[in-house]
Amino acid sequence: MENLKTASIIDGKEVSARVRAELKAEIEYLKQKHGLTPGLAVVLVGENPASKVYVRNKTRACEETGIRSFQHTLPESLSEGELLTLIKELNASKEVHGILVQLPLPKQINEEKVLESISPQKDVDGFHPYNMGRLMIGSPLLQPCTPFGVMRLLESTGADLSGKEAVIIGRSNIVGKPMAMMLLRKNATVTICHSRTKDLPEKVRGADIVIAAMGRAQFVKGDWIKEGAIVIDVGINRAPDGKLVGDVDFEGASRKASFITPVPGGVGPMTIAMLLKNTVEAAKKLASI
Ligand code: NDP
Repeated sequence: MENLKTASIIDGKEVSARVRAELKAEIEYLKQKHGLTPGLAVVLVGENPASKVYVRNKTRACEETGIRSFQHTLPESLSEGELLTLIKELNASKEVHGILVQLPLPKQINEEKVLESISPQKDVDGFHPYNMGRLMIGSPLLQPCTPFGVMRLLESTGADLSGKEAVIIGRSNIVGKPMAMMLLRKNATVTICHSRTKDLPEKVRGADIVIAAMGRAQFVKGDWIKEGAIVIDVGINRAPDGKLVGDVDFEGASRKASFITPVPGGVGPMTIAMLLKNTVEAAKKLASI
């Protein structure tokens, strides 16, 4: 007989709505009690259409939550020096608690130099080497939003991560590596896989927690998943029919996993929610609250 058991869906829209509602209440309190309105500066350089959409979504999310947003839209021809001058001003501004420079930047601008010029206390993307280092030593200040959001999704399942085998597929600085540090802090035993990993299916078969962050459509198959595993799909890929799909074969994996995130509607909505959270945390720290 066919096995009809399917995994519980981890609803990223619902969890992110909860995070935003908590933040809205907290921001209201900060305004009333401390006269503090958290502020996020979003810097967009050039005409990248995807970047424009991301910036619009982030600005709208700020407004809905009560965060003041300061949008800086700058021409493609902007020089590195001009951008560094703006960041210096934002670093010094009393009203700005978070600074986000939308990537990618035009080719005449060195991204690394720009990201390092952001004050680590206002680095709400968590990409500054200082914040990466803090996470590495187990004392995080501001954490990268996507893996931070994944942790919140894992928490929503109620699972105890201690002693669990976690396999992360992908080793990027924005997802895979910080993800590993966050899971390690929760006492999981972490394996990071990448394009040179030998026998990936076998590695995944041993995992209680699978984090797929490779950017390869439906690469992770259902029969790689251990019975009862938690599967988090970070990937966002465009299938040939135009639909958005993750890195995991959702149908197949659902028959084995205990919990699974859908794409879209899983990790995606969490990223912006955690950006808002980081902005509020940064504002509180800067105001010594
Ligand atoms: P990168 O391209 O920077 O990294 C991909 C990683 O996957 C690399 O470490 C690469 O290995 C590894 N990889 C690629 N192919 C294979 C393979 N066949 N087997 C094993 N490992 C492989 O991507 P990002 O980390 O930036 O993003 C990953 C995915 O997550 C993308 O789909 C992206 O769109 C999505 N994403 C989603 C977000 C969200 O908000 N939901 C936010 C950020 C990203 P190697 O290092 O060896 O090349």
